Order: sequence, then C-alpha cells, then structure tokens
Amino acid sequence: MAASDRRSTTAGGGRSDSGLGGRVWTLFTPYRASLVLIVVAVLLSSGLGIVTPFLTQAVFDRALFPLDHSGVHLSLLAWLVGGMVAVPVVSALIGVFQTYETTLLGNRVMADLRSRLFEHLQRMDLSFFTATRTGAIQSRLANDVGGVQSVLSETASSILGNVVTVVAALVAMIILSWQLTIVAVALVPLFVVLQIRVGRVRRRLAGRTQESLSDMTAITEESLSVSGVLLAKVFNRQSYEIQRYREENARQVDLQVRQAMTGQSFFAVVQTFLGITPALVYLVAGILIVLGSGAAVTAGTIVAFTTLQTRLLFPTVNLLRVSLDVQTSLALFGRIFDYLDLTPRIVDAPDARVLDVSTVAGRVELDRAWFSYPAGEVAGQAPVAEVAEADRVYAVKDVSFTVAPGQLAAIVGPSGGGKTTLSYLVPRLYDVDRGRVLIDGHDVKELTQASVADAIGMVTQDTFLLHSTIADNLRYAKPDATREELEAAARAANIHDRIVSFAEGYDTVVGERGYRLSGGEKQRLAIARVLLKDPRILILDEATSALDTTSERLVQQALENATKRRTTIAIAHRLSTILGADVILAVENGQVVERGTHAELLALDGLYARLYTEQFAGGKVEARCKDGVRFRDGATLVSRNAAVGNAGEDAGEKVA
Ligand code: ADP
Ligand code: MG
Repeated sequence: MAASDRRSTTAGGGRSDSGLGGRVWTLFTPYRASLVLIVVAVLLSSGLGIVTPFLTQAVFDRALFPLDHSGVHLSLLAWLVGGMVAVPVVSALIGVFQTYETTLLGNRVMADLRSRLFEHLQRMDLSFFTATRTGAIQSRLANDVGGVQSVLSETASSILGNVVTVVAALVAMIILSWQLTIVAVALVPLFVVLQIRVGRVRRRLAGRTQESLSDMTAITEESLSVSGVLLAKVFNRQSYEIQRYREENARQVDLQVRQAMTGQSFFAVVQTFLGITPALVYLVAGILIVLGSGAAVTAGTIVAFTTLQTRLLFPTVNLLRVSLDVQTSLALFGRIFDYLDLTPRIVDAPDARVLDVSTVAGRVELDRAWFSYPAGEVAGQAPVAEVAEADRVYAVKDVSFTVAPGQLAAIVGPSGGGKTTLSYLVPRLYDVDRGRVLIDGHDVKELTQASVADAIGMVTQDTFLLHSTIADNLRYAKPDATREELEAAARAANIHDRIVSFAEGYDTVVGERGYRLSGGEKQRLAIARVLLKDPRILILDEATSALDTTSERLVQQALENATKRRTTIAIAHRLSTILGADVILAVENGQVVERGTHAELLALDGLYARLYTEQFAGGKVEARCKDGVRFRDGATLVSRNAAVGNAGEDAGEKVA
C-alpha cells in the first residue's frame, strides 16, 4: 500500500471546529440514556435555582412589606421561608446525583477512547513503530487522553448547567424589568468576541504544551530505560541528559503558565464589571422611578433582580472559562484523532482466508519479491511524499526462492545485506512492493494475518522479554502450557539447568527486557519460547549469535531437533551452525547472489566461500560437519569429532 493512501492530517488546528466537535460528540452517543438523565438533573437543579429569587420577591412585596401596607403576613412568610429552605436541599441532592452521573460518563468515554487508541496502535504495522518514538506514543495515550478527562467528565454538564442557569436567570430578569436587564447585559456580546480570540491563543498553546509533554515523555522513556541509562553512564553523558530534561521542563513551565494566564486579565475585567453592575442597577432603578417609567420597580423587584444578577455572575464567568477549556481540549482531541486516523499499511484483505494451522505443510516461497522500506512518517504531519521510483532504495531486490516443507534453508551474507528484511516478509511484517510471498502456495496477502502469525514462529535478532517471570515469558507463546511443557521446551533449548539454578527457578523475574539474564541466556529462553509455540515454520534470525561456543553447540543440538519437524529459515552469522542446511542462500545488497548446499557454494568459490574462509581459516571458530570440507586453496578441513554438535574438542585441523 502506498504511503499516500495513509490518511494524515495536519496537527489539531488544521481541522474545522465543527468537524472536530461532531467527532467528539460521537464519543458520547453510546451513552444516550446517561446523557438524558444528566440533562434532566441539570434542568431541574438550574430551574430550582431561579425559584429562590421569586420567593425573595414575594417575601418582600407580599409577606414582609405588602404593597397594600396591610402588615406582615406571618403564615405566608413561613410558607415562603419553608420553600427557600427546601429548594437548596433538593438541588443539593440532585447535584450529588448529577456529579456521579457525569463523572461516570466522563470516565467511561475516556476509557473507550484510550482502549480504541490502544487497539488501533496494536493494529498498526511495524513501520509505524520504527518511525515513531515510543515515548511519543505513550504520551498520546497518557497525556493527551488524560488531558481531555476534565472536559469529558465536567465540561459538558457544566456548560449545560450554566447555559440553563443563564437563560433562566435572563428570562426571570426580563420578567422583572426589561429596562434593568438591558443595563445588566449590555457588555456581554463584547465578552463573547474577546473570549473567542483568547480561545484561539489558548488552543495553539495547548498544542505546543502537549508536544513538549510528548518530548519529555520520550526523553524519560529513552534515558531512564536500562539501555538508556547504560549508554549515558558509559559515555558519561548523564549531565547532558539532565540538561536536556531541564530545558524541556523549563519550556513546559513556560507553556503551562502562559496557557493558564492567557485570558486572565480578560476574566478580571469581566468579573469586575459583573461585580459592579448591581450598583449601577440601583442607580438606573432610581432614575427610572424619578422619570416615572419605573412604576413596576418595587423594592422587592430590585432585591430579586440584583439577587439574580449575582447568580448570573458565576455561571457567566464559568461559561467563558469552560469554553476556553473546550478550545484547549480540541487541540488534544485533534492529536488523539490524528493517531486514530492513521491507517495501518498492512490489513487483512476483505476476503482473507484462514490458513489452517493444523494442516499447513510449511512450504515457503518468495516469487520475484521487491521491497523498500517506507519513508518514516509521523502522525499529525503532512504525509511524506511518495519516493520516486528512481530514488527508491530496495532492501530486497527480485528475490525468489522456495523452501520445501521440513527443509532447512539458511540465509548468510554480510551485515546490512537484507537478511532480516527478507525474513520479515514471510510473516508479512512488511508487504512486498512487487512480487509475492507464498505459504503453501497461498499469497500471504490473501490470508488472515492472525493465521499466518499462528503458523510461523520467529526468534528475532533482538530478544525481547517481558518484565515478568521466566514462566510467564515462556507462556507468552502458549498461555495454557503445563509446567512439564515449559520444562521440556527449556530443556530442549538447553536453558532448564540454568533456570533451576536461580533461587526462584521458573518464577525468577527476568527484569526489564530481560536484563537480569546474559545475552546467551536470553537467546536460549527465546528459543524455548518459540519451541513451546511449536510452529510449522520457524524463522531464526541470528539466534545463536550471542551464544558462546559451548552453549552454541548445545543449542545447535536443540535446534537440530526442533528444525526436523518443520520448515526452518535460519539466518546465520556463524556459518558453523548451518553447514547441514538443505539450501544456503548467500544474500548481498538485497539480492540472492548464490544458492546451493555448503559443498556446492564452496565449489563456486564466491561470496559464501569467502565468508567461510574468513571465519574458519583463522581457527577462530571450530568447524563442525560430517565430512571434511574443502578450503579455497584446496586444503581440506577435517574434524576430529565428526558428529555434529558433539561436545568436546573438535577444532579442525588443516591437512595438506
Ligand atoms: P541484515 O539483517 O542482513 O544485516 P537488514 O535486513 O537488517 O540487514 O537491513 C537491510 C537494509 O535495510 C540495510 O541497509 C538497513 O539500513 C535497511 N533497513 C533496515 N531496517 C530498516 C528500517 N526500519 N527502515 C529503513 N531502512 C531499514
Ligand atoms: Mg539482521
């Protein structure tokens, strides 16, 4: 799939507000019932809120100082006061219910969003992860999704509540006195315009704050991991790392403060104005009465009106604040949606078939395969332009080969030649640009990824272990494996004895990425893990590179047993491990330059023969094979212990 197929938008700000808002709204649609409950609660409590001023008006104008001067009406007063007590109690109860519902709703929506993002990232292809910093990915899940939490849980109901309160209060105020209402709200439109401006600035700052947070997470992730710490220590660069973190941290402070302070002076103006208008209302009321047009303006009206006005103060300021928060969160939602919009390059075809793992024979075929690594591409940035054909660097060029079921094929060649890349094409970790990859004659593009993955076992170049126990790491391949199966696999990989020598045996925690184990132990554990999976097709990428000569020999034995019943593609740096291969492919510059058995390739006297002599001529590694093998110069290497994998001294000696 071409890079241009991948939808990618510019960071947050590039999309329209309405589109973004609509998408945020769809997150809530599964919870309609809950939304309705919240709306009812909000309407009830806000509606109750404006009852009190009317009760106040009645207290003054009917009970305490009746307009007809008929004296205090005590029983009416008692009723009114009773009402004024009941209203806050009921609205407090509704408030508790409303808080519970909104918190639940907000957290559920956020959890959905987090899971969706996680699931989506799980489906992304390998190339996305090789091009993106781990910390940046973690930051989107933690900081960006976390950042919209308050908006999801509080803002929606807060907007609704405030709008209802403001509208209801305005209606009540107009009923009391429209002239005074005009005085009270004259400046509100100006506030709204200012608010929109401030919101834009906030949103831009929010985007930058999240970028900076992402950088900080990435620095943390890189420099506080075992490998990162090790690197910094041996190169004595800790002070540099600290400096780097300090700088980003300072930037974060700056951005956070700027973001928080943007619009604060605006709020101060709004608040002051709203705070002093009741005083203006008294003045205007006096003028109205003097002018004679204020016949309806009674003392009770003025008290009720100013009560309403004060009630209006907080919701108005809140609304302005909340809409700023919404602007801020739109930037975050934009970043989250950018990730959700990335389309994985490798997806199951709509009519993909399932490769039956129980019947798969294990024939692996590459048919004129070409592959070039996709250009790195970052979410939220413009898609990288398609690389022109002429500029494409192919890591695999026109490679064809067939490995029959049960055969052992070895891939050898200089570093960077494309061996690992070639092996990634078989389980469809990358898709070929041209040509085909076939398993049992089926194009892998026509099979489901899951069934292909089930049929293939892989020991990758870098062993990855989870920070968990040895048993858990092994069971990753087969969750229901019994202890006997674990031990059998570990024995086969020649790691059992080492495991039981740990105080906690199979329950030993291997440490972050397996740092508590040596390289060779990790590799043997990885081999045990793949043996437990027992796949039909096995791919070993330099699986013995970190083993010392003794354990290599022992693992070699295990591998020989393991490879008997399955198709194996073994990438080998140490040629001693693949001398018995059915076919050896010598790969250089992405091409298969030689193919044949060990003896045939030696006879060719090309790349393979050169690699072979380099390794064995110096006597660095002992050669082990059933027959004596010929050297380039015609000399013959004879091993004293002819049997493959025989322990003991079997260093070859050169005879004329
Ligand atoms: P080998 O396993 O034979 O040492 P690889 O298959 O790892 O070689 O690499 C083949 C070529 O592809 C190298 O030139 C390498 O730089 C390049 N390459 C490997 N991985 C990537 C990647 N993720 N993105 C871009 N280029 C890559
Ligand atoms: Mg490699």
